[in-house]
Amino acid sequence: MNPLRKAWAWLTDQPMPKDDIFLPLAKLPKESALEVAKRLREQVQKDIEKITGIKDMPMEKPKQPQYFKSQLVEDRAKYLNLQVYDIMYEMIEYIQNELKLTPCVTETVTMPEEDKALGRKSTSHQEGRAFDLRTRDWNADQLAQFIGYFNAKYESLGALNSKGEVKFIVYHNSGHGDHFHVQFNRSFSTLAKEGKLA
Ligand SMILES: [Zn+2]
Repeated sequence: MNPLRKAWAWLTDQPMPKDDIFLPLAKLPKESALEVAKRLREQVQKDIEKITGIKDMPMEKPKQPQYFKSQLVEDRAKYLNLQVYDIMYEMIEYIQNELKLTPCVTETVTMPEEDKALGRKSTSHQEGRAFDLRTRDWNADQLAQFIGYFNAKYESLGALNSKGEVKFIVYHNSGHGDHFHVQFNRSFSTLAKEGKLA
């Protein structure tokens, strides 16, 4: 949608009327498209000011910070166990506020066939009890600080490995870049593994 129309719809909760200020460009041969856009923008801003009383209202909603590698990874986060989801956000905030790094969740819930294709043996992602965090830009101190802080809080919730040892945060150095695989024990499994993912 035209950004001006989008801004109008957002601010007024209704589409712009048909006989609006969007004159066909053909009628304005002496102006460049940029000049037209600028003028229309000023006009919309004036109208917005009339309606809301707010001067220099931003024309677009501010973008939310992007914490996920892709839209798919973000969409599938809703299939995580709720407590897992909460702790993921606690970690995102910690990475941002304490480590002063940009958080990036690189994997949330997966489908069995995707795990198979990747040769992933753990079913923790498809059961909604694991997520991955990108760590490739972190230094040794930041890695250690993160592990220390969150192991102290949540290590007892971690998954068991084949030897029966609790492993909560697993550091992976795979071909796809360094990351933390954060995994919770089987009591955190959700129905995601039933294959009902969007
Ligand atoms: Zn993982």
